[in-house]
Amino acid sequence: MVWFVGAGPGAEDLITVRGAKLLREADVVIYAGSLVNPALLAGCRPGCELHDSARMTLEQVLQTVSAAEAQGRTTVRLHTGDPCLYGAIREQMDALDEAGIEYAVVPGVSSFCGAAAALRAEYTLPGVRQTVVITRMAGRTPVPEREQIRSLAKSGSTMVVFLSASLLEQLQQELLQGAYTADTPAAIVYKATWPDERVYRCTVGTLAETARKNGVTRLALITVGGFLGPCAERSKLYDPSFATGYREASHEH
Ligand code: SAH
Repeated sequence: MVWFVGAGPGAEDLITVRGAKLLREADVVIYAGSLVNPALLAGCRPGCELHDSARMTLEQVLQTVSAAEAQGRTTVRLHTGDPCLYGAIREQMDALDEAGIEYAVVPGVSSFCGAAAALRAEYTLPGVRQTVVITRMAGRTPVPEREQIRSLAKSGSTMVVFLSASLLEQLQQELLQGAYTADTPAAIVYKATWPDERVYRCTVGTLAETARKNGVTRLALITVGGFLGPCAERSKLYDPSFATGYREASHEH
């Protein structure tokens, strides 16, 4: 059996209870060494076989899993954040389907949630923005033409940009071609939830300069939009004059 487990964004106690239990009991762990906190591996049982996937190809990962399966051993494939975002798990699951190997996924706290916590922010603010776009700049991995940031930025939605900390000059230009202006609030969150987390609040116009000044070139998320500014209105959900399925409206304050 193979478990794809989300390790969480960095802090070792931000893995789920289920994920931590599977990790403690695993016979084989294949972890994304470039981003998974090594402290998480300290709880693995003695004799657990550890592999850093940063040094492996997909074929090598699959070979390791197949060898474990042949011996009736349990594998945890530990991905950073939640495996459903930029985790390259689909190709692994397809191969496991083909090989008839059983697997399941255990979600994790994605770094975009860790970044919101670091910013003490809410991405979906009533009267400001109700949509979050999660995307990336094209790098060595291309992005489909219709998903270029300049197109997505037309909605002016809250935007969280992964995998792009080294491309901020271009990101800035792309954002400015959408609905954002140079003074739209933005933030760079470096290593959200890690002990050396850093938060830089800036604007779309100063994104590249802020990263340059602070030496940020990787392990960061870029967040953009009015959610970083003032709150426009309060929620309907907790408004006394608004009835919900759980609470009657009252007109007293
Ligand atoms: N599946 C992961 C994302 C993997 S892609 C998740 O859900 O978070 C790797 C990219 O995620 C990095 O380049 C960076 O943009 C972002 N990232 C991962 N962990 C981060 C963290 N703790 N702080 C800021 N960005 C992070």
